[in-house]
Amino acid sequence: MIRHDVIIIGSSYTGLCLASILVNAGIDVALVTNEKLANKAPSKQQYASRLFAINAHAYRLLTQKALSPGFADQLGKCSQPINQIRVVDNNSTDKIDFWPHDIDLDNFGVMIDEVELKKLLLDKVMELAQLRLISLYFDNAFERIIHDDSRKPRQSTAAGRSTISIRLVDGTIMSTMLLVGADGRSSKVRENCGISVIREDYGQTAVVCDIHHPTWDHRGIAVEKFRPSGPFAILPKVGGYNSSLVWTEKTDAALALQVLSMNEVMDILYDILDGYLGEVKVTSEICLYPLSLLIVKMIIANRVALVGDAAHGMHPVAGQGVNLGLRDVSYLAELIIKQCDIGLDPGSVTMLAKYEHERKSDIHLMMGMTNGIVRLFSNDFLLLKTARRSAMNIVDRLNFCKRLFTSYACGKI
Ligand SMILES: Cc1cc2nc3c(=O)[nH]c(=O)nc-3n(C[C@H](O)[C@H](O)[C@H](O)COP(=O)(O)OP(=O)(O)OC[C@H]3O[C@@H](n4cnc5c(N)ncnc54)[C@H](O)[C@@H]3O)c2cc1C
Repeated sequence: MIRHDVIIIGSSYTGLCLASILVNAGIDVALVTNEKLANKAPSKQQYASRLFAINAHAYRLLTQKALSPGFADQLGKCSQPINQIRVVDNNSTDKIDFWPHDIDLDNFGVMIDEVELKKLLLDKVMELAQLRLISLYFDNAFERIIHDDSRKPRQSTAAGRSTISIRLVDGTIMSTMLLVGADGRSSKVRENCGISVIREDYGQTAVVCDIHHPTWDHRGIAVEKFRPSGPFAILPKVGGYNSSLVWTEKTDAALALQVLSMNEVMDILYDILDGYLGEVKVTSEICLYPLSLLIVKMIIANRVALVGDAAHGMHPVAGQGVNLGLRDVSYLAELIIKQCDIGLDPGSVTMLAKYEHERKSDIHLMMGMTNGIVRLFSNDFLLLKTARRSAMNIVDRLNFCKRLFTSYACGKI
């Protein structure tokens, strides 16, 4: 039977990043994914890929800890620094400006195209595969856990430790000391462990598209405008004159947008932008992402750890999904490396309990914060309108409060 010390399921941001960190630390890793290796990047002209806000902490993880030194240069070339964040309440003069120097940073992090980030991470993993330092199983998929020998009389591996065995859809059977579910919101690993979840539909859909604004340089300013139908984010792209919109609408309205003519969409857009960015043209397709909250009861099981969206699914209002996932990766990697360095089991009960204990509060706080923002701002009830105006005034006036909020969103605390 095929054996690896750690098997990671999923080859997106968290799976690829964890694989690189562990392999660079000399750990025997296999990565299993249902993605095809020759995954062609979609044509940039038509497809609106999402622009991810990668905060300062996650950026450091990617450039220093995870990957080779050249990675920082490559990432830098396709990143737009976030120089300022402006939060605006719909049709009012209420706004808060957040500045990075208030928390001793040069910028809040960067905006990076999801396709470019994935490609960079994948290239690094492929380099490791060429050196035969990692085993890759592409165009395959985790099917189920077939044998968890800790529940049976102990059947030892060569190293004298129990393992968990899995089956892939093509029938391959593998065993490992630690199975990591980095397989997203509909995680099969999580489902196989019988971990229960709570899902809540926000009734909102994110409409994502790219815009060109030839007469207005965005200067790295990210804007979040809170409308009753949900947040409307204008995210700066590299170069100054292009931005990405994450335009949240009630799901019916979002579906209706897709069938409107471009002129009709532009009329609505000009109305929302209210003169900001000057002359604007939509340069991509309009892509829809239905939004929901996903609360996962446990992020560990016997010889299993979950990371990223498999462990928590949140509204993109604060652009925190990947950032939180990379914090899971950072902490889990640290624990695994520590165990392996001193010859201990990388899937031990104690280590996994520590992982869950340490990650729980950060996950709960971030989920609570994003959910609270969505609930407070996505409506026009008089009482909540008053409450959010007060909240904005308090955050804006109390510098320590503003700093605390920004530091947390940047992963500084
Ligand atoms: C509109 C929108 C905007 C967003 N903006 C931001 C932002 O600005 N900043 C931010 O930090 N986050 C943002 N997010 C959140 C972000 O998209 C997610 O948090 C992130 O994609 C999660 O990454 P992941 O690696 O955990 O999982 P995923 O990206 O979901 O990847 C899961 C991986 O597992 C693989 N897989 C699934 N099932 C199997 C199986 N059975 N076997 C093998 N492989 C499997 C998949 O092919 C994939 O490779 C946004 C989300 C949305 C919807």
